[in-house]
Amino acid sequence: MKLNFWNVINVTVSRHPTKYLGEEYQRLVRENLNWEIKVLESASEPICIVNGKEVLMLCANNYLNLATHPKVVEATIEATRKYGAGAGSDRSISGNMIFHEELDRRLAKFKNAPASLTFQTGFMANEGLIPQLAGRGDLFVSDELNHGSIIDGVRLSRTDRAIFKHKDVEDLARVMEEAEKHDPPYNHIWILTDGVFSMDGDLAPLPEIARIGKEHGAGVYVDDAHGEGVLGEGGRGIVSHFHLRRDEVHVEMGTFSKAFGVIGGHITGGEDLRNFAYNKARTWLLSGAVPPGVAAACIAAIDVLEKEPQHVRRVWENRNYLLEALKDAGFDTGNTETPIIPVMCGKSKTARDLADFLWTKGIFVLPIFYPMVARDKARIRVQLCTKHTTEQLDRAIDAFEEGGRKLGII
Ligand code: PMP
Repeated sequence: MKLNFWNVINVTVSRHPTKYLGEEYQRLVRENLNWEIKVLESASEPICIVNGKEVLMLCANNYLNLATHPKVVEATIEATRKYGAGAGSDRSISGNMIFHEELDRRLAKFKNAPASLTFQTGFMANEGLIPQLAGRGDLFVSDELNHGSIIDGVRLSRTDRAIFKHKDVEDLARVMEEAEKHDPPYNHIWILTDGVFSMDGDLAPLPEIARIGKEHGAGVYVDDAHGEGVLGEGGRGIVSHFHLRRDEVHVEMGTFSKAFGVIGGHITGGEDLRNFAYNKARTWLLSGAVPPGVAAACIAAIDVLEKEPQHVRRVWENRNYLLEALKDAGFDTGNTETPIIPVMCGKSKTARDLADFLWTKGIFVLPIFYPMVARDKARIRVQLCTKHTTEQLDRAIDAFEEGGRKLGII
């Protein structure tokens, strides 16, 4: 049929540009899978105001309470007063301020590594660097439970990909053997893993992964967003925790948004990695630099970690105390090895009901459900921090026990 003006305007179009957005949201609500976001009306502290209510915070990434550490807060105020609220540009253009360069250097020193490069967020570090590391004729091998930013980074590449079972070293070895049969042989292979898995709090078997990587000449990339500030000597992270060398783990990626208490992503490794990353990662090249006050706060946070080791010790004491009590009460806390404690609930509705019950008791926790975790593995994710007191933790334990019994979880 030849299209002319009249038969174009007479067509009844059944398509609607945005109706499906509302329909999809309603489906999420019906299936108990929608996010209910609350509003924090005070600083992120153990006791804070959320939605107008005073609650005990048990779901912040602020493991060492550095978000409100006086030295970190002072640094951000001072830098902002002198250098302004914004950097004025991307780092690649004219926004690369002395603070950014200093932060890169300080982080590399803290990590005992030749070089670091800081990004605007951890998500942007993964999403920007990973797709540049490999292309056609290369292979990414990824743990099945890796963070979404690794998954998206892999998806942005034109690289072949293979998944190994969570933390399963034998499965990884099998995948690598298979990869060796590829014809033509892969040019580059990268093994990608979280260091601490954010939904379970368990650790990657990094020494074994590094060994397998070495056997196959593969690069090893670890996302240590939840390990930094918590694991290793003085909170130096998972590479330090396992006493690994820089030629065994080639990219150590992390974030300033968790234990460091600020915001910003980073990668650490050799000089070649840094030079490569800032010339190739599009999120670094094509997006604004973090404000000077943010970079200055991150430098101050590193300073605090170097000078005040008590914060790291204390978060572990709190974690051990709460974990033992939850286990004694009969909760399934999975295989956690860190201050992230999953309290397994099964269905998403049960996790939500428990979170709602805890909320009525003045405890703020996060229910986690599909698609963040498998459908039948919904949970409450508890996160400890340095400033929680034993009395506060006792209050949380009583409330968990009461709610757990009420809902038939224990
Ligand atoms: N990796 C992991 C494992 C994470 O948990 C997160 C934060 N949720 C990120 C990366 C992203 O870090 P950022 O908050 O700095 O974007």
